Amino acid sequence: MADAELLILGPTIVSMDREERIIEDGAIAITGGAIAAVGSRSELSAVDAAETVDASGQLLMPGLVNGHVHMGDSLFRSLVEDLPLEPWLERLWMSERAFVTHDNVRLGVQLALAEMIRSGTTCGLDMFWFPEAAAEASVDAGFRVVTGPIFFDFEGPDGIDNPDRLAVGEAWFERFAGEPLVTACVEPHNALTVSPEMMTAARALADRHDALFHTHCSETATEVDSTRDRFGHTPVAHLDELGILDGPTVLAHCVHLTDDDFARLVRTGTGVLHNPLSNLKLGSGIAPVARMLEDGIPVLVGTDGPVSSNDLDMWTAMRFAGLLQRGARQDPTLTPAVEIVRMVTSVGAKALGLGDRIGSVEPGKRADVILVDLDRPHLLPMYDPYAHLVYTIGRDDVRSVLIDGRWVMRDRMLTTLDEPKVLSAVRDLSLKIEAHAEEITGS
Ligand SMILES: [Zn+2]
Repeated sequence: MADAELLILGPTIVSMDREERIIEDGAIAITGGAIAAVGSRSELSAVDAAETVDASGQLLMPGLVNGHVHMGDSLFRSLVEDLPLEPWLERLWMSERAFVTHDNVRLGVQLALAEMIRSGTTCGLDMFWFPEAAAEASVDAGFRVVTGPIFFDFEGPDGIDNPDRLAVGEAWFERFAGEPLVTACVEPHNALTVSPEMMTAARALADRHDALFHTHCSETATEVDSTRDRFGHTPVAHLDELGILDGPTVLAHCVHLTDDDFARLVRTGTGVLHNPLSNLKLGSGIAPVARMLEDGIPVLVGTDGPVSSNDLDMWTAMRFAGLLQRGARQDPTLTPAVEIVRMVTSVGAKALGLGDRIGSVEPGKRADVILVDLDRPHLLPMYDPYAHLVYTIGRDDVRSVLIDGRWVMRDRMLTTLDEPKVLSAVRDLSLKIEAHAEEITGS
């Protein structure tokens, strides 16, 4: 009998393990969906595998973790443009209310998954209506998703009214408990759309299930001012005063932080989901990521939804995460490339509570790995793999993707999603969305 189901030989391995080893002419053995062995080609030469793949001229690394995404929103990509966040959301929600159904969200998620897998993303923290549609579509596509019950004070397009959201949330945990590709978390929208009582109840729900808590926080100056006006605190302080930050929490954006906010994030070990493209495109500002790193705050990189940053390309997000701090503070030593790579692999996985399962290429971890073609003019020579990952490699360089030991893209072919069918269905639906938008805006 073979020692391993799959043996990949010859890639340069960027392991992101504890020693952050980079192994030239490396090899990994995979069995039962997990990484069984990692080393050089010669170290693994005795492994007997059912299938051996030659990946010479490629780079193998942990799959990218997208720290903040709204997959279902891909249906509305480029529908609303060039408005400030608050009126932009108002307008977007008019279309969402008309078209956000379980089946449409599922289709939007499939579209997003095709895009994400194609670009080397293997795990995403998703927040959207009908989170069960995201979970179902992710499981079907073999994608690792972190998502769960959402909270708003008003009745959403899902037809669930505020008081019922807790019971729906409990049922969500029951339904997806034990599903290996789904990690549940609790996701209120933000401090202005979710009352303090519901925020606290959502935290309690997360705690009952030992789950992560995820919300938007301090995205714009307007949001900070409005939260101050209503509650007398910044959004971070408001959440902290409610006791929300006492359990495992990640906050999307944190663009506008006071010294007191920093102290609260550090004291509670709260993670920040940095979405550089969305923050720039919506004119929200530049999150003080360099200071977060100096203070030891875990930072992840996300794309945010395709409605705000227009695509789900983690390579562009990584590049902007690296460039922005240097430009903003006029200091080229900030955010070294390896720090950015940690955000989307080892550090990111740990902050989502998945550090023992994914985020590095080492024995015992689930086999969520990607292969990137290096044999291309823009990628040679490669003296510093981390600089390549942040500043040179793009999504079209990703060649193959494994999640939980299963090929989800092999030599650029998606293996778990019917891509032509998804694209055709999205094209049909987009005509209806566009017609409805013209009707409500009169243009
Ligand atoms: Zn968001």
